[in-house]
Order: sequence, then structure tokens, then C-alpha cells
Amino acid sequence: MRDYYEILGVDKNASSNEIKKAYRKVAMKYHPDKNPEDEQAEKNFKEAAEAYSILKDDNKRARYNQFGHSGFENASGFGGGGFTDINDIFSTFGDIFSGGGFGDIFGRRTQGRQYHQKGSDLKISIGLTLEEIQKGTTKTVKIKRLEACGDCNGSGARPGTKPTTCPTCHGNGEVRQVQQSFLGQVINVQPCYQCKGSGEIISNPCRSCRGDGRVKKTSTIEIEIPQGVSTGNYMTKQNEGNHGPKGSIPGNLIVYFDEKTHQLFTRDGNNILLETWIQYPQAVFGETIEIPTLAGKVKLKIPAGIKSGQVLRLKGKGIPELNSHRQGDLLVKVQILTPSKLSGKVKDLLKSLKQELPVEPKFEKFS
Ligand SMILES: [Zn+2]
Ligand SMILES: [Zn+2]
Repeated sequence: MRDYYEILGVDKNASSNEIKKAYRKVAMKYHPDKNPEDEQAEKNFKEAAEAYSILKDDNKRARYNQFGHSGFENASGFGGGGFTDINDIFSTFGDIFSGGGFGDIFGRRTQGRQYHQKGSDLKISIGLTLEEIQKGTTKTVKIKRLEACGDCNGSGARPGTKPTTCPTCHGNGEVRQVQQSFLGQVINVQPCYQCKGSGEIISNPCRSCRGDGRVKKTSTIEIEIPQGVSTGNYMTKQNEGNHGPKGSIPGNLIVYFDEKTHQLFTRDGNNILLETWIQYPQAVFGETIEIPTLAGKVKLKIPAGIKSGQVLRLKGKGIPELNSHRQGDLLVKVQILTPSKLSGKVKDLLKSLKQELPVEPKFEKFS
């Protein structure tokens, strides 16, 4: 992977305006309409879009400056900038292309692309415990999706036969009609009625999939979940959605995360909150106690003379921040227990203690 600054040909200190200008220049040079059927140009075009998607965003640029490409690995749903479909580049950076002589062409391409069938995206939701969120985890999920038919290898044509090029559109998938209007000549582009945009005709459809090229299957896939995700975060697994009809590109699998409620801990951003109840003498004299955390038990030193409701902080025992090296803390609120069931001995001890302590209550502002 080349350096993003190098791809756009700008200095590391370039302003956002310089980056935008540089991207526009590179994108125009490798624009697919200027370089039809040129794979290298398409590659450069996608590469430039990826570089621009990172460098135009101050946060992503800062992360890139610090961590390089590794700052974006494994994180397509979290702001990585990879583009697999050229169409996404046009829809993301449409403003870059408009008014540059590509306005009309851009419109045509977007439309033209829709004719080519594509598998639909799938969405799933994965429930995660706070422990799993803290450590990161790998989940194995079963998904029902349309996959390539094994009998025809996804082509839709009966084994031993081949699809033929559509005679109406000659494989383009679209038909153009030139019409005269009072504004002048109008070119009307529509999906081909004979092949429905696929550009191919299947005269002998496969029996297993009836010419669609796909069959319903249940697949098991592994999803690696990074540390620190929250409810509402999602990641995109490229090409793991429904396969496209007749061997066309598959859709994506979008994995949403859902945090399960914990019976003991509460999450507050990247911090974890816990309440602990101790006895009055422990608060008076101080004591080291054992407390649970998301990753097992640890010792907590309660200082002598702690007040009821005081919060102690255990650094780094919270949740790691997503895509960062920072880590949240565990905040423990220490409460003093009032005993309710008293043995005779305790009752006597407390009674004599009461005699020794001042009886006047103390007042303070509510906080
Ligand atoms: Zn088939
Ligand atoms: Zn056709």
C-alpha cells in the first residue's frame, strides 16, 4: 500500500484545500470515462479516492499520521477508506466531479451502473457482553443467504451450455434512444428490456437455480470484533452479503453490535462503574479488599477514613477505546453498610460506641 500523501502528490503539511485540489487532479487523470477498460487507471482511481477519504477528514488524517495504514486495518466499518465499487466513489465525492466537465458523464455512469445487477446487502446484529467488548472477540454466526449455485457455478446457464451475448444491447445492458425534442437532441438511456441489464441471454437455464445462478444456503462465518465497540457501531464485511444473480458482484454483510446489560457493571463511555458496600470499621481503619472486574478479581485498597459515597479509580480496568491505545478506568463507589440484623454482642458494642460518639448531626450542602 502506497503512502496516501504520495498517491495524491502532496506534502505532509498540505492544507485541506490543497488536498482537495490534488485529489481532483489525480481523479480527473484516472477518471474511468477518460480511461475506459484500463485496469491500472481504475486501480489508481480507487487508490486516490481511498487516500482522499482519509486525508480530508482531520481525525482520520491524524490517526494516519500517527499509525500509518495500520491505523485502519480491520476496520472497514469504522472509517477505513477502501473502495471496491467505483460507483461508491462517485456517490461519496460527487461534489468533486460536478462542474468539471464530468457532470453529465457522472450522471450517466451512476445510472448505467444500476442496470448491472448486484447482490443485496445483509444486516445482522450481534449481542456482546461487556467482557467480550473489553477483550475483543471472534463470533461464529450462521447466516442464510443466496450463494452461487454449485451446479452452474453461478452462471445460471445449464451445465454444458453458455450464456450468449444479448443481441439487443450487444452486452452493454443498456439501450440508447435518440429522440428529438424542442430542446434539441435527447439521448435516452434505459436498461435493456431483453436481458434486464445483465447483457447476457440464458437460453438453457440451470435446473437447480432456474437460471438465477444462486441458491439459498446457510453459511457459517467468523467475525472478528475489535475491542471497545458500542451499541450502534457496525462493521461492513465486504462481499459477504447475498451473491449477485448470474455471477454478478455480491452485496456486503453489515454487522451491528448490541451491548448486553451486565448484572453487576454499568458502562459509562469507556469507564466501568461498580458500587461496593463495606462495614463501618473497614471504612474507619481502611482495608484492602478483593473486587470483581471485567477481567477477574483485583485488590482494591480502601484508605482509612473513607467517606460513604467516595469513588475510587482503578486506572486501565475499563474498556479500551475503539481504534486507540487509550483505556477506560473502573470507578468504584464505596458505600458504608448499615447493619440491620444484629447479634446481642454487636448490639452491645454499638450501644457503647454510640455513647462515645458525638450525638449532634452535621449539616452540609446537598451534592
Ligand atoms: Zn444453477
Ligand atoms: Zn440486453
